[in-house]
Amino acid sequence: QMTNSMAASHARDKRLTDAIFGASAACREAVAKYGAEKVTNATIGTMIDDDGKLACLPTMERVYRSLPMEDIIAYAPISGLPDYLDAVIDLTFADHKPEGYCGAVATAGGTGAIHHAVANYAERGTYVLTSDWFWGTYNVICNECGCKLANYTLFDEQQHFNIAAYTAKVDEIMKGQDSLLVIINTPAHNPTGFSLTEEDWDAVLALTKKYAAQGKKMSILVDIAYIDYAGEKNETRAFMDKFAGLPDNVLIMFSFSMSKGYTMYGQRTGAIIAVSSSEAVIDEFKEINKYTSRATWSNINRGAMTLLTRIQQDKAALAQFEKERDDFYKLIQHRGDIFMQEAKACGLKALPYKGGFFLSVPAKDPGAVCDELHKDLVFAVPLKLGVRIAACSVSTAKMKGIAAKVLKAQQAV
Ligand code: PLP
Repeated sequence: QMTNSMAASHARDKRLTDAIFGASAACREAVAKYGAEKVTNATIGTMIDDDGKLACLPTMERVYRSLPMEDIIAYAPISGLPDYLDAVIDLTFADHKPEGYCGAVATAGGTGAIHHAVANYAERGTYVLTSDWFWGTYNVICNECGCKLANYTLFDEQQHFNIAAYTAKVDEIMKGQDSLLVIINTPAHNPTGFSLTEEDWDAVLALTKKYAAQGKKMSILVDIAYIDYAGEKNETRAFMDKFAGLPDNVLIMFSFSMSKGYTMYGQRTGAIIAVSSSEAVIDEFKEINKYTSRATWSNINRGAMTLLTRIQQDKAALAQFEKERDDFYKLIQHRGDIFMQEAKACGLKALPYKGGFFLSVPAKDPGAVCDELHKDLVFAVPLKLGVRIAACSVSTAKMKGIAAKVLKAQQAV
């Protein structure tokens, strides 16, 4: 029996096991001992420029500092500022807004959007589905909301999207439930940098429609946290055209985040966005997510919402902002490409990085590989299925040679 727990029985076992904080603690020790110059920190989830500083988009900073204090301290509406909601819908889709009804509700970062999707679109006790390489927070949110996270194998032998594994897992789950929420983190998936192709999406939607035709409620949350670091604005969003004209028992949602796209990680600003062919489904979406916001954090960061709207409404600022962000995107892409080219050259089997903050290398014993890498003063994150390298945080100069070191570490364990 529990003698020293005051927690409710359902809350007792909550523990965050964060591999990232462990890895970054080891890295800090090495920096103290050997100096930052000699150490490669591939554990960080934020963008670090080639001089080792936390990157900040200059136009974001300028506009943020120009905000009147009132815009920073006042409450905002629970659903979010109306102009912000219009702007995030535009930003989510760019030129690929599907025909249909759209709604948006402001959330505390993309994390808040994922929380709301699980809280409101996954039946308690049922499975939510995501790939076997996934951002660990999905699991925490599912547990918190009384759901279970199931996984399918993301890659096939050719390192393509494993539609067979995806289909098999959906088939298995749908034997036992009448609705399903799937979370797909694309483009530029964390932790692999993978993106679904148009054909992958066609296959996912065909299966979704098959179950919808049987009367099942099918929801997909597209986690687009890294979309602004995945390529050209409209090319990366072309797949969104496919979300037009779906049956009204299929709901497509997006988790929008200002963390990476605006370098505003700590300001906790995002949105959940939905598209449906049913106006009633969107009305309900706005009501229930507003309710869940009221019950969790009430309203969110008014200053950050105002900042986004101001940039969006000022053509010159927007053009400047997009150019600055594009430069950062290219910097990270270049670092990732260096790793991938070197991996290919030395015969290291890395997963297919297409863009974004992270790339991954499968490993049998990821912890041991990471420990071995410490000997070369390289610090990466051991995940269940492999080692995650942060292209967002390793400078271009330091990225050179990392692939060979990972291979060497793999061979040593
Ligand atoms: N989704 C993924 C896959 C992420 O890696 C992150 C951040 O690390 C987020 C969503 C959302 O981040 P935030 O809550 O800071 O917007």
